[in-house]
Amino acid sequence: MSFFAHWSQVPERLWRWPDFAPAEIASRGDGSILIAPDALDRLQALRDALRRPVIVTSAYRDPVHNARVGGAPLSRHKAGDAFDIALRGHDRAEMLEVARAAGFTGFGFYSSFLHVDCGPARQWGQRGDKSWTY
Ligand SMILES: [Zn+2]
Repeated sequence: MSFFAHWSQVPERLWRWPDFAPAEIASRGDGSILIAPDALDRLQALRDALRRPVIVTSAYRDPVHNARVGGAPLSRHKAGDAFDIALRGHDRAEMLEVARAAGFTGFGFYSSFLHVDCGPARQWGQRGDKSWTY
């Protein structure tokens, strides 16, 4: 795990995920970034399996930003190992299957994005929604 007060400070040699940039993974609050390599490896594996662009709408969140957006106090986003992935242009069932295969263990189902994380195995959200039938 490496923390930088701003994503622009991340040394190039530390970044090994070709389809993602530090700015995308950094907090949308203060621009800080916590790099969780194992989680980013899973995100890259998901991207490699999909073979299509993946838009991450929220990844690391600094504590102030997490509170501002209504994140849970113990949100995995604060640990840097959670990602919200936009579903537009993707098949939901495929996204979930690929996320599981990539090693993600926590899932939150939302209408426009899938939350994935590396925390304890659990899931929440609109599983009953027919758009998430699988
Ligand atoms: Zn999330």
